Amino acid sequence: MMTIKNVGFIGIGNMGKPMVRNLLNAGYPIKAFDLDGSAMDAAVEAGAEATSSAKDAAMDVDAVVTMLPSGKHVRDVYLGERGVIAAAAENTLLIDSSTIDVETARDVSEAATSARLDMVDAPVSGGVAGAEIAALTFMVGGSEGAFERANPLLKTMGKTIIHAGGAGTGQAAKICNNMILGLSMIGISEAFILAERLNLDAQKLFDIASKASGQCWALTTYCPVPGPVPTSPANRDYQPGFTAEMMLKDLRLSQEASQKVGVATPLGAAATAIYTLYANSGHAKTDFSGIINMIRGE
Ligand code: NAD
Repeated sequence: MMTIKNVGFIGIGNMGKPMVRNLLNAGYPIKAFDLDGSAMDAAVEAGAEATSSAKDAAMDVDAVVTMLPSGKHVRDVYLGERGVIAAAAENTLLIDSSTIDVETARDVSEAATSARLDMVDAPVSGGVAGAEIAALTFMVGGSEGAFERANPLLKTMGKTIIHAGGAGTGQAAKICNNMILGLSMIGISEAFILAERLNLDAQKLFDIASKASGQCWALTTYCPVPGPVPTSPANRDYQPGFTAEMMLKDLRLSQEASQKVGVATPLGAAATAIYTLYANSGHAKTDFSGIINMIRGE
């Protein structure tokens, strides 16, 4: 198995920046590319070498990591004559950590395999805060061999690295998890609003539900009312955290996938509609747990 010595990194935004820093700190020289000049400046300041295209960043490196906004950007960067797949030398390892649709992840992985390249989809959870302290969770789809090669690199940027299965299953894990999160945040919010109206103290509901069958992450780590969990965004006027528009993006990806494979996810569909209403009412940049205020009727 070829060890990874140097890395191309494409997409140096909110997440890419701290990930590049962690790779540099771990001793990997980085060839960086982003369309945005200020993102490039930040990468160079951190110690990366600037390149002038995705193609350049993918040449003469052992691995390429991408952290891009959506499936469309991933297709643009990987496919075509000037894409990463055409530019990379045989056996280069490709890691896409963007959150994108499963279909794009599988198409790009197939193109990579045809070009004799190893590829994994490796979306993350943990947000910018997790990226800063190299504590991301990576959900990885791809062959066993590609996973083994990617593991040491991912460990420099994350804490929990899980092999989900074949190509696209990293993305599948991400959207299934975030569909659970979107649904459960709405459920927890409804329960706290009902408790308010029934004169049940929020702290009492928390004390009981967190020890009973209502227990879940949206309650115990990210409680949508101020008080019970001091670190939750509810205690800082719902500053993100994880914005409503990011939750909406992942919910939409879950619904796109459900439709493609013909699975009914009625509560996922309802959660998508509820978060669309919330984002469209001026709260796209508010933390997603602020949904409780809309449910309260505010
Ligand atoms: P961002 O918009 O801050 O960064 C994306 C970067 O990609 C930008 O700097 C942009 O200029 C660059 N880019 C776009 N098209 C490009 C191209 N063709 N070539 C080169 N560069 C290009 O986004 P982000 O917050 O860093 O998120 C990146 C991905 O990670 C998204 O898919 C997002 O859903 C996912 N994610 C984000 C978070 C978070 O908290 N921010 C958490 C988990 C997952």
